[in-house]
Amino acid sequence: MQDTVVSCPRCGAKNRLKPDAGGRAPASGRAPACGKCRSPLPWVVDGTDIGFRRELEVPVPVLVDFWAEWCAPCRVTAPVLEEYAGELAGRLKLVRMNVDRNPATAGQFHVQSIPTMILFRDGRPVETMIGALSKNALRERLTPHVG
Ligand SMILES: [Zn+2]
Repeated sequence: MQDTVVSCPRCGAKNRLKPDAGGRAPASGRAPACGKCRSPLPWVVDGTDIGFRRELEVPVPVLVDFWAEWCAPCRVTAPVLEEYAGELAGRLKLVRMNVDRNPATAGQFHVQSIPTMILFRDGRPVETMIGALSKNALRERLTPHVG
């Protein structure tokens, strides 16, 4: 695994994030912050069945994207979710779950078709969205939960 370079949305500084459990955020449960200006960076990780519960133990809402490589609508949705996570840096964590590699978590939350996006607050699912979504639709569904 390689470090991921993320540009700070505020000052533009390049930040090198170390991979952790297949993701690209620190394991401390705290959102990554810019090394230069300290503003929050987009928090995006690739989750696993084994570490899934821990991904939810953070002080911000967690949006989980259940996807697969062969799923065309998933490929359309992925950049929308990343952009949204970038806009909500410091207020939202995005966890990507590949359902082929992590079938247990998908089964646990009864994911029957993908993409399925579930928003968790305090470890509990509060909103479920199925199928490709525009950013406006996503915002409409999630703003009541993430502010
Ligand atoms: Zn910065």
